[in-house]
Amino acid sequence: MESTKFKELITEAFEQINSLEGKGEKASYIPELSRVSSDKFGIHLSTINSEEFGIGNYQEKFSIQSISKVFSLTLAYKLLGENLWNRLGVEPSGTAFNSLVQLEKDKGIPRNPFINAGAIVIADVLLSYLENPKEDFLAFIRSLTKNKEIDYSSKIAASEKSVGYRNVALCNFIKSFGNIENNPEKVLDFYFDICSLESTCEQLSEQFSFLANNGKTLHNNTQIITKSQSKRINALMQTCGFYDESGEFAFKVGLAGKSGVGGGIIAVHPNQYVISVWSPKLNPKGNSFKGMLFLEMFTTSTEQSIF
Ligand code: GLU
Repeated sequence: MESTKFKELITEAFEQINSLEGKGEKASYIPELSRVSSDKFGIHLSTINSEEFGIGNYQEKFSIQSISKVFSLTLAYKLLGENLWNRLGVEPSGTAFNSLVQLEKDKGIPRNPFINAGAIVIADVLLSYLENPKEDFLAFIRSLTKNKEIDYSSKIAASEKSVGYRNVALCNFIKSFGNIENNPEKVLDFYFDICSLESTCEQLSEQFSFLANNGKTLHNNTQIITKSQSKRINALMQTCGFYDESGEFAFKVGLAGKSGVGGGIIAVHPNQYVISVWSPKLNPKGNSFKGMLFLEMFTTSTEQSIF
């Protein structure tokens, strides 16, 4: 589709949804996240032909939370290859993102890398493999684009750490099954840092463009991961990227994607485009209320979804 048509349809859907009363609630379980203004709404599209378009608060940074789980999975997969799957699975969990129940039955092997249990195991893998985990991980994300502004927020990490009892429970529980190598406190500190990353819609769609481009960055043609790994990460986003609402997202939107409790959503159409959306109020499943609605409207009006 030509870019003026994309712009027109994005603007139309943006205006329509922006005028709706924002239903839902902000993620107040992390105190810092409840301070963000509920009215924020931003969108940015980046195509693999390097065409870009943004609207609303697309240049304002926000807490990407679980969207960062795609970056940590990418780096761990790059480092360990298929051995990574000895430590965690690739099945949708069908339970809440912070649930403990399945782990007992599954003997400490998390169902997938996008629920908290899986991302905690990934944080442990990175701690074992990287010399300076916090710095090296950030440098990895920065290498994905020309724009190097993404950074951790110590305020948000501290805010989450002050109330992160469930994640503490998850990490210790997994450790009891032998699937955490490092000291749980160190693993959790790194996990909270990863969740605290802040980015803008504009930067996010650029950072994720390698997943629309068979694992290769757009800005300098670097093969970050193999084509097959890129396909598999997209498949995981498709099946597990939206907590207990992944089926609904596939059904209504038809893109591979990942959401975070900061109200961000990133969605990928392989070989076509990446689109990011941010609106802080969440629906009962923890996904951005307006973000979900916008993406449904976007793929419906453009007829540009995977299926
Ligand atoms: N830091 C959040 C947590 O661990 C991430 C949740 C999310 O965005 O899904 O609870």
